[in-house]
Amino acid sequence: MPAPLPQYSLVIPIYNEQENISELYRRVSAVMDRLDSPTELILINDGSRDKSLEMMRDLHQRDKRVCYLSLARNFGHQVAVTAGLNFARGRVVIVLDADLQDPPELIPDMIEMWRQGYQVVYAQRIKRHQESWFKRFTAYTFYRLLKSLADVNIPTDTGDFCLMDRRVVDLLNRMPERNRYIRGLRSWVGFRQTAVKFERDPRFAGEVKYTFRKSLSLAINSLVSFSRIPLRLASYLGLISAVFSILMACLILYWRLLEPNSPVTGFATIAIAVFFIGSVQLICIGILGEYIGRIYEEVKGRPLYTLAEVEGFDEPFEKTS
Ligand code: UDP
Ligand code: MG
Repeated sequence: MPAPLPQYSLVIPIYNEQENISELYRRVSAVMDRLDSPTELILINDGSRDKSLEMMRDLHQRDKRVCYLSLARNFGHQVAVTAGLNFARGRVVIVLDADLQDPPELIPDMIEMWRQGYQVVYAQRIKRHQESWFKRFTAYTFYRLLKSLADVNIPTDTGDFCLMDRRVVDLLNRMPERNRYIRGLRSWVGFRQTAVKFERDPRFAGEVKYTFRKSLSLAINSLVSFSRIPLRLASYLGLISAVFSILMACLILYWRLLEPNSPVTGFATIAIAVFFIGSVQLICIGILGEYIGRIYEEVKGRPLYTLAEVEGFDEPFEKTS
């Protein structure tokens, strides 16, 4: 008899999280024990430099429900999650962070919503505990900016913590694009989606792995992948500065012809105009560059990630308890 496939897959990306893994396993396995069907736990090592990988190997030895992938270097959170989705076998896939900011205890509620017929259940933060005002402010502004610019309706204040039905995961797996903003792609596929609200806890231990630079790059990625409005900005800026320069020309003509004692001096005006046009042009070239850079990335067609180690997927799946 072929071994049964798991019904639920939990996908957790891990980058230098040695302080969190034991507690994560304790809390997640407690939830897994309470679920009604077999569940696999997929840990993705995103090129950690600490003991995370050894700890994952150890967990796999102790509990065969734990499978793991090890990427050959740090590819970033979104790619790590994508790798996990590629390997997940469950009818339902749940993605969560390793630092316990996404409480695993919410999973049964999400599964309940799935049973009611939703294909995507995303967790929406109603409150963030102990995150700096800077992080809260930038996150707040970014999610609203994205919502107003993006072509699809990406719900505000949602992270990658979500449940997805097999149909949605298959669709995501078939998407070839390499700039993966999973929250956006997940909204793009459609189907019935709903939110469960939660309060986001502080990190259990360790440093934040999403540095300001990584967050900014994710933000730019998401805007560029889901909106073409920034491209239009160049035309708008051009129009505005054209109107502005016509007004200026009229004003200067008027002064020159009708008010011979007017204080128009050339240098300051010219210098400001040159800098103004210069910066507008540089900004527009920068925006174009963002889009062209992405075309270049797509055209190269390199694989999204490289794998150094894969364990637990070819073995018959068994629930050990
Ligand atoms: N992470 C990853 N690769 C990275 C950065 C982060 O796999 O390059 C993982 C990290 O281990 C954690 C999750 O992504 O499980 C979220 O990271 P973090 O808690 O630092 O970010 P937050 O979303 O809380 O700002
Ligand atoms: Mg976190």
